[in-house]
Amino acid sequence: MPEDFIGIEAFYKSLDEGILLGVRCRNGHVMIPTKPTCIRCNSRELKPIKLTGKGKLLTFTEIFTPAREYEKYAPYFLGLIELDEGCRLMGRIVAPRDSILRGINLKVGSEPSQKEGWPTWPKIVFTP
Ligand SMILES: [Zn+2]
Repeated sequence: MPEDFIGIEAFYKSLDEGILLGVRCRNGHVMIPTKPTCIRCNSRELKPIKLTGKGKLLTFTEIFTPAREYEKYAPYFLGLIELDEGCRLMGRIVAPRDSILRGINLKVGSEPSQKEGWPTWPKIVFTP
């Protein structure tokens, strides 16, 4: 494991502070959340990087039957965005229904977990 490896807890702690962390391998592949090995080239030479948190909506769906901790949001939109750095991330979209279209610009944010007990990691949300 590289000594500057960012574990999942550090990833979510940074997210809670408004910093989106990823890793870049020696061949330029960017991943999020962080991983100990590149998923494309198997490189173990990964460096942590701060991502812009900006991306475009690739696809989305509307959730009518959520997990219990999301019931208060239902129905809501779940989307997959491609960040400026080329990696992809899934999260809940917080935007007016009519504005949610493929290709719109979204930025990554977070909100506190509603779950009690461990883990209480923040939830990933996308806003215009
Ligand atoms: Zn790679």
